[in-house]
Amino acid sequence: MHYEILLRDEVRAEGAIRSGSFPRSGTKFWDGRIDPATSTPWHAEATRAPGGDLAAALLLVQDGACGAGVAFSPAPRSSTRYPAACSRYAFGPEEGRLTVTCFTCRTCAVQYADSQRPPARCAICEDERQYVGWHGQRWTTIPELSAEGFRSEVRELEPGLAGIGVTPALAIGQRALLVQTEAGNVLWDCPGHLDDAAVERVRELGGLAGISASHPHFYGCLVEWSHAFDAPIHLPRADERWIMRPDPAVRLWEDRLEVLPGVTLVRCGGHFAGSAVLHWAAGAAGRGVLLVGDTITVVSDRRYVSFMRSYPNYIPLPASQVDRIVRTLEPLEFDRIYGGWWDRDVREGAAEAVRASARRYAAWVEGMPSE
Ligand SMILES: [Zn+2]
Ligand SMILES: [Zn+2]
Repeated sequence: MHYEILLRDEVRAEGAIRSGSFPRSGTKFWDGRIDPATSTPWHAEATRAPGGDLAAALLLVQDGACGAGVAFSPAPRSSTRYPAACSRYAFGPEEGRLTVTCFTCRTCAVQYADSQRPPARCAICEDERQYVGWHGQRWTTIPELSAEGFRSEVRELEPGLAGIGVTPALAIGQRALLVQTEAGNVLWDCPGHLDDAAVERVRELGGLAGISASHPHFYGCLVEWSHAFDAPIHLPRADERWIMRPDPAVRLWEDRLEVLPGVTLVRCGGHFAGSAVLHWAAGAAGRGVLLVGDTITVVSDRRYVSFMRSYPNYIPLPASQVDRIVRTLEPLEFDRIYGGWWDRDVREGAAEAVRASARRYAAWVEGMPSE
């Protein structure tokens, strides 16, 4: 049998079917040959659709992991049903039509696991560190954002480091950073949108050997990047409950992880229990660079940083936690910090800037210092 499978948005089956594999994302056609007689353990399910231009539907199931699709003509000559191993993808009343989508929260840009309808709530936004959009909870998808004109933007920041943001600014306006080393590249943090041009640019720069993020506000569409490059996603176990789009590519780490030689993730806590930084030893011409998201945030006076439980809601951290962050960073050599937004950088003297900022912070939260 020969099918063209239309995948809605980011549905992806683990592994490949015969010679083909699913596309990265978006509404695209995957054109592959499936022979139910020989392609076990995959099962193909085909039923006639009730109408429209949809000729047939196909459900692919491998053990408990599912991929789902909608097959277009040519319709199969016969209709054979196989029991679905995954009820999440069971066919609904409108037999034959199955669309699942990975929805993205418009306020925080975090992408959720695939579902047939938008999730009821965004746990990230309902947390006291974020906020539900003033017009209520709203959802979008990456194809919809593309249609609205959002584009990825890649900028070189220094040799071996690129920023990847979104234009116009999306959600909280965060940007990703791409650390390039001879052993491979690591993507740090993630906005909620990516496009083919950005993927192509990253491919030119050597692809991805690993992906991580400072904290859940910057998880964005990490899984999309992972699927595009078949790259593992390293997230701290302490923030496991905030992973809204689980994926087999996610690997949990504890307090410290050297992803590649000279590229190390360090958990600091504070903003989130798993809030982390990425230390890039070769950055800033060998003086060392810290990528911080808003585990530590670079403030408008870029000689300083600050530390908060919630930035939008101005909830401070206790001085003891700020002290712990500083002590965790003490063994690391770095001279420059890149924050989570364009131009939020401490260009030099960053290690001392962190210490001085922590002293100033503690003085104010522990009692009014003398003016
Ligand atoms: Zn949200
Ligand atoms: Zn945050």
